[in-house]
Amino acid sequence: MSVRVRFAPSPTGYLHIGGARTALYNWLYARAVGGTFVLRIEDTDLERSKREYEELQKEDLKWLGIIHDEGPDKPNPKYGPYRQSERLDIYMKYALDLIEKDLAYYDFTTGEELEAIKAENEAEGVHTHYQGKWKNPGMKTEALAKIAAGEKPAIRFRAPMKAFALNDKVKGEVVYPADMVGDFVIIRSSGLPVYNYCCVVDDMLMEITHVIRGEDHLNNTVRQLMLYEAFKYTPPVFAHVSLLIGQDRQKLSKRHGATSVHLYKDEHYMPEAMCNYLTLLGWSHPEEKDIFTKEEIVPMFGLERFSSHSAIYDLVKFKYVNGQHLRKLTNAELVAQLNTIIPAGHAFHAQATAWKEQCVELLKQKVDFITEMQPMMDDMIFDENVEMTDELKDILSWETTPKIVSYIAAEVAKIEGFASEAQLNVWSEHAKKELGIKGKPLFMGLRAALTGKGHGPDLKFLIPLTPVSVLKKRAAKLGA
Ligand code: GLU
Repeated sequence: MSVRVRFAPSPTGYLHIGGARTALYNWLYARAVGGTFVLRIEDTDLERSKREYEELQKEDLKWLGIIHDEGPDKPNPKYGPYRQSERLDIYMKYALDLIEKDLAYYDFTTGEELEAIKAENEAEGVHTHYQGKWKNPGMKTEALAKIAAGEKPAIRFRAPMKAFALNDKVKGEVVYPADMVGDFVIIRSSGLPVYNYCCVVDDMLMEITHVIRGEDHLNNTVRQLMLYEAFKYTPPVFAHVSLLIGQDRQKLSKRHGATSVHLYKDEHYMPEAMCNYLTLLGWSHPEEKDIFTKEEIVPMFGLERFSSHSAIYDLVKFKYVNGQHLRKLTNAELVAQLNTIIPAGHAFHAQATAWKEQCVELLKQKVDFITEMQPMMDDMIFDENVEMTDELKDILSWETTPKIVSYIAAEVAKIEGFASEAQLNVWSEHAKKELGIKGKPLFMGLRAALTGKGHGPDLKFLIPLTPVSVLKKRAAKLGA
């Protein structure tokens, strides 16, 4: 049987990084084994679910390159529809089948009555599962009469009082003791089904073979196992991946940084870097590599390498991973991105393509994000001002430096455009031979005279990128 996996988001908000990781693991597994990756929309919470969120989540998945093979927009008639809100009749049909077999029953207990029972139990310090009168199989005739009279019951599943065991691919053997859960509602009196129930009906009818999802669903799984048994259907293989936690070991939340994928997209994180980093949060590369594309991982991906420990979400590492991916882009690709990011009218746009490519070659060694390039360029290349830092004041106080500054001021006054690397060598040789300055006073003095700074990138890369008009202004300010 060919592998079928699914990502089943609820469209009640943006795509969360934990959700993106789940989607990614499912995608990787499907690609690794030649299976099918299904997108199912779990929108039975009609009040909170919005089509707009479904679209936004799909957009984020697309941005990450996590493309589904089947879903609302790519239906396979054998398995669709793919939105739970469009499958309500299917859920009802299967629930009636369970009632027919006496594995579920109609329940007219009202919310208030349930509250009262709960309060009573609490007062007596006992914990009992639902024991209402509708549980009694003899009540069915009365129930049907009520329905005929227009009353709307919930449908409650008769939970078997026995232990269940799960052989989870990540967590290993999980045992759910008998009596852990009591009879539970599968369809509310409103006609809307509950998650654990639709999940099973859908996974069964969509022939899902492997469920890879967050560990937070482990408690739900016992209810799902009960339902599979009731339907006499072999459950899929489960892999409950560990939770994402913050550095403080608390559940990941906004306190730890942005938790929605789109915020990272807005901050120009690279989708390749996000997939790379998310893959590492709970799975490890067989050769312990930490930089890769998701396509590179496909041939080696399997359920065996998941960690059962919580994964710590670390923005510092994520940024580092982003920098590694940024440096994999060609200079032409980086320039193309900068062309769209840097505002119109900026001096960058006026430069030749060769200049732009040399510029990114220099900057990419120093940044992890494309957005960091423009501020750095402004500071190192286009800034005509000279900031009198202590470091600069110190260099200017040496008796050799004013000589270099006035020499450079006179030299740059003679040229236009850009000074070449050869030109820089001429200046340096002149200062050495004619001004008699060597070593640190020479190279620091030259740097100060040309850049107005005490440190920075190698002058032979920086100066040919700096407009001479800027060099003139700096030299004038330093000489004043
Ligand atoms: N809609 C559920 C969620 O977003 C899906 C859980 C599952 O994968 O079974 O958490």
